[in-house]
Amino acid sequence: MALMRKKHLSFGVIISLLFVFLLPFSLSFKNRTALLSALTNVISYDNFADLNVTTKVPILMYHYIRDVDKNFDPMGWRLSTSPYFFEEQMKYLKENGYTTINLKDLEDGKVPEKAIVLTFDDGLEDFYTTAFPILQKYGFTASNTVITNMVGRNGHMTIEQLRACARAGIELISHSKSHFSMSSLGKEKLESEVYDAADFLRNNLRIEPFGFVYPSGKYNKLVIKTLRESGYKIALTTNEGEADLSDDDWLILPRIRVDNRNGILGFKKKLEELL
Ligand SMILES: [Zn+2]
Repeated sequence: MALMRKKHLSFGVIISLLFVFLLPFSLSFKNRTALLSALTNVISYDNFADLNVTTKVPILMYHYIRDVDKNFDPMGWRLSTSPYFFEEQMKYLKENGYTTINLKDLEDGKVPEKAIVLTFDDGLEDFYTTAFPILQKYGFTASNTVITNMVGRNGHMTIEQLRACARAGIELISHSKSHFSMSSLGKEKLESEVYDAADFLRNNLRIEPFGFVYPSGKYNKLVIKTLRESGYKIALTTNEGEADLSDDDWLILPRIRVDNRNGILGFKKKLEELL
C-alpha cells in the first residue's frame, strides 16, 4: 500500500512537472512569451527587491553629438545634440546626483538610486572625438551601439577608436551588421545580420553577445526569438519611455530620445517628470 502511494505520488509529481513545462507551449506565442517573461520578471523583481534598489531606469538615446545648421540639414539637426547642450546635460546629471551605469549593470542588479544609462547609436566618430572626452570629464560611462559593417567608414569609429572606448569602460553592443530594418528580413538574412555582427564583436573586440539595439527601432517576434537564441539578454527599442526592469520584457526595453529639440530645459523636464 505504501509502495502504491509512493508510486502514485511519483506519477503525480511527473504529471505536475509535465504540466508546468508543457503549459507554456500550449499557449500562443504572445501568451507564452508573456508567461515566460512574467516568470523571469518574478525572479528579476525578487533580486531587485532583495537589493533594495529601484526597478525603473531611464535609458537615454543619443545619436550625433555635433553642431548642425538646422536650416541646411533639418533631419540631421533632429538626429543631433550640439556639444554645448550635451555638456550642459552631463553637468546637470552630475550636479543632480545621477550615476551612469552600463546595461550589463542592469543584469548584475547593480542599479543605485538615480541610475541612468546613456546610449549612443550607430558607433559614430563624433562619439569618440566629442562625447567621449565630455563623458570622461564628468566620470561618466556610456553604451555605444556598433553597426559592424560600418566600422571605420563614413564618419563611424575605427576599430582602434572602439578599442580605446572599450579600454576606458565604454560598453559596446551590437546594432546589427548593416542597419537593415530587421522586421522586414527573412530568417536567413536576419540570422546573418545578428550572427555576423556578433562574430565581428567577438573576434575584434572580445565582446560576447549581450546587448542589442534594433536598427530604426524595428522588431517582430522572429527578430526577438533570433536574439534570444543567440544569447542576447537586453535589446533596446526606440519606443519612448523609462525602462521598468520588473515589468518590461528585457528584449524590448524603451528609451528616452534626446536631441537638439530638447536643449537643456527640455532635457531637465523629461528627467524631472520621471522622479
Ligand atoms: Zn541606428
